[in-house]
Amino acid sequence: HGSAGKRERNQNIQVYIRVRPMTPGGQVKVIETPGVREVVVRERSVANITKTFTFDKVFNTESTQLDVYDTVVSPLLKEVLLGYNCTVFAYGQTGTGKTYTMEGELNTTNTMLFLGVDGKEAGILPRALSDIFDEVRAMSCDYQVRASYLELYNEELFDLLATVEPNPNQTKKTLRIYEDANRKGSVVIQGLEEVIVQNKQEVYNVLRRGSQHRKTASTVLNHSSSRSHAVFTITVHMKESNVDGEEMVKVGKLHLVDLAGSENIGKSGAVDKRAREAGSINQSLLTLGRVITALVERAPHVPYRESKLTRLLQDSLGGKTKTSIIATISPAQCNIEETLSTLDYAHRAK
Ligand code: ADP
Ligand code: MG
Repeated sequence: HGSAGKRERNQNIQVYIRVRPMTPGGQVKVIETPGVREVVVRERSVANITKTFTFDKVFNTESTQLDVYDTVVSPLLKEVLLGYNCTVFAYGQTGTGKTYTMEGELNTTNTMLFLGVDGKEAGILPRALSDIFDEVRAMSCDYQVRASYLELYNEELFDLLATVEPNPNQTKKTLRIYEDANRKGSVVIQGLEEVIVQNKQEVYNVLRRGSQHRKTASTVLNHSSSRSHAVFTITVHMKESNVDGEEMVKVGKLHLVDLAGSENIGKSGAVDKRAREAGSINQSLLTLGRVITALVERAPHVPYRESKLTRLLQDSLGGKTKTSIIATISPAQCNIEETLSTLDYAHRAK
């Protein structure tokens, strides 16, 4: 509104909406995207709703994977290469395109097709990794790129790049988070596999292994992927010498997070009563909302410690870091309740 006294916006947090295409089958469409920043929910026949929401940018059903990457991730990559930490979240109801946005279609047999002329469906992960290699090679410094990929299910961490396939015994050795005593504020995950990736081909192998393990985990460990968070982290170590010949080391991180389905979070951001009764509260998803709200409102206390997700991202949320949220929604009438919830949640991050 621009009214007097309104707090200054936190420019480090950007919120985007992506509307997935309609699925074939005679559904009624209730979402309109009249401008680049607006989403209109218009439903006349049942609920008689017309509501407009404004965001940093709205990706409509015609938007491509490249559009999303260029707008959301390219600017963050620049920050990472300056030695800052950044995070991109995909938030939304199951089936609205979180994994499509983050990973894209990876199930092609020829991995090199990801980014070739037929790589249009590649999501943020392969594009970011590919771009990082192009950028660091162009910089005159020694560098190392590392990748890790973990799943967070029921407040337990699982390594998606572990050399062993996910198996039921794995639950006994879940990973632990602690703060690095040598580097203040920096988070370490004990035992997490950090794979050094040398080139783009290795990137694809890593991505495929992680994505495959996520699928195996969902069957073998009964981790419904709609209730788990997947956190892919790219760490870039850069070593430069200044004019006096002194060595300077910069470390930047990019976290790409495919969140659990938001269907249990009610409109007010509180847990849905049915979900509470069913014991399916997603502590990490709830706490993430509170952490983002605290950062947006510049509250003196940010409740990082209240969930695993926010603890492991603690050194990459707030302060000088940049955070982008892509909230994915369905345009169909049958999903209107969840869509309104998602729009409200995303809007509170503004
Ligand atoms: P989620 O991870 O949020 O549960 P998915 O990414 O698995 O949802 O998407 C569900 C289905 O819809 C997949 O088959 C996916 O390919 C398709 N889909 C989602 N978003 C888009 C989009 N923007 N364009 C094309 N297909 C999409
Ligand atoms: Mg998914």
